[in-house]
Amino acid sequence: MNVEEIKTVGVVGAGSMGTGIIQVAAQSGFEVKAVDVDDAACARASKAIAKILERLVAKEKITEEQKKQVLGRISFSTDVATLKGVPFLFEAVFESVDVKKAIFEKLDAICGDEVIYATNTSSLSITEMASLVKRPAKFIGMHFFNPVPVMKLVEVIPALQTGQETTDLALAMAKKLGKTAITCKDTPGFVVNRLLVPYMLDAARILEGGVASAEDIDTAMKLGCGMPMGPFELMDYTGVEISYYVGEIFHNYTKEARFAPPGLVRNMVKAGYLGKKTGKGFYDYPAK
Ligand code: NAD
Repeated sequence: MNVEEIKTVGVVGAGSMGTGIIQVAAQSGFEVKAVDVDDAACARASKAIAKILERLVAKEKITEEQKKQVLGRISFSTDVATLKGVPFLFEAVFESVDVKKAIFEKLDAICGDEVIYATNTSSLSITEMASLVKRPAKFIGMHFFNPVPVMKLVEVIPALQTGQETTDLALAMAKKLGKTAITCKDTPGFVVNRLLVPYMLDAARILEGGVASAEDIDTAMKLGCGMPMGPFELMDYTGVEISYYVGEIFHNYTKEARFAPPGLVRNMVKAGYLGKKTGKGFYDYPAK
């Protein structure tokens, strides 16, 4: 199969990442069949995409007609069976082996032999996930970044079992979606999170050690290294619990100390100080 032969893609899971993938795929000319177990998630995704396209029209980046065409290419359903016959499926459901296993079992029961499964997992082993499906040679990781329409990178991660044709197709798909792809071995964190997670946890370690304040560490990394956000601003933005859980997963897997979350991060998670979404993290976010 060649990417130019693919007219329709499927997206399973219409949360933060799924919504972005649906939008980008529809804007790239694909018919998009989106599926989420939750009706409300479908409604939220549909509304969010319409709102973003509306803003693009207001900024004269796209025309009203193009907006209508893009929206017309997207359909939502809570029924996995609507994905029957779709040749390329992006998976973006909750980060849980059990949830992912259950969805791939359902997909295996309805999909044909040629279908490609591209998982967006951030922390699970692609090889382990490929071993759960009927056709592991057609299974691959395509790790997008949040927010998907803005972030240009996709990490393409072949499992041990992935066929070269699948990797080539995933790379071509990333390009067709307007992204720049890198390929990476199936290792914890791939490239970006392997470097980013220890960096954020190290920042928390030096804060915990009293080396400098959170504000000063953020200022140092922004003004001294040209980072767009400091490590604490970034952790508050993405959710402090993400750094904690991902650090724990990578630490359990590799036993490398740099992935071990420091006590401060663990305690913040236990206290519910998760960042922007809870109004308190490394900084306070008073309700507007
Ligand atoms: P999310 O919680 O925002 O969305 C997950 C969606 O999956 C929800 O809408 C949920 O209803 C749906 N879902 C759950 N079970 C389902 C099922 N059986 N069938 C269909 N839909 C189902 O999660 P997210 O942040 O979009 O993350 C999704 C995936 O993307 C995860 O694997 C995560 O590791 C990965 N990821 C997340 C980010 C990020 O910054 N959020 C970045 C890169 C990769």
